[in-house]
Amino acid sequence: MPDSSPQPPPCPFKKRFPSQLVRDDTFFMSLAFNQAIDAWREDEVPIGCVVVRDGEVIAAAHNTVEHGADPTAHAEMLAFIQAARAIGNWRLEGCTVYVTKEPCPMCSGASLMSRVQRVVYAVPDPQMGCLGGATNLNALPRVNHRCDITAGGVIEEECRELIRAYFKLKRPSAQTPSPETGPND
Ligand SMILES: [Zn+2]
Repeated sequence: MPDSSPQPPPCPFKKRFPSQLVRDDTFFMSLAFNQAIDAWREDEVPIGCVVVRDGEVIAAAHNTVEHGADPTAHAEMLAFIQAARAIGNWRLEGCTVYVTKEPCPMCSGASLMSRVQRVVYAVPDPQMGCLGGATNLNALPRVNHRCDITAGGVIEEECRELIRAYFKLKRPSAQTPSPETGPND
């Protein structure tokens, strides 16, 4: 990065260190939360994702839209690519996706297209979420694959506060931005 690039605001949130003994939804969402903190430290919107199969994390990623100058570089998209490489198959059957915010239209679509078994998201997004928040692609009447959805409730408050705090520091004049896109999109 050039020296002139602005530094991200210091992240006031700490990573979570969940017990390895209980590998439940909270455990895996904690890993996604930690990815989101990594995103913040790189001055990216703090959203993180992990993909789990047979109890093992096979992919972990965070949003890199800004640094990659890539509008598709959402945490979920990057994690899906990693997961497909890890298992050598684009069909992510048997996989569970943990993501700190409800997937956008692109990532909700990719969840269906990759045939993941289950999506667990921490923060519902009534503006752009497409797995129940703004709309629900999973409920399209003729869709050929449906995911099991867990909508909110898994370290939801921490994940919401992380995104809120980031936008507040980055854009202090903003009203209430969409968690994903901010106030200008
Ligand atoms: Zn997305």
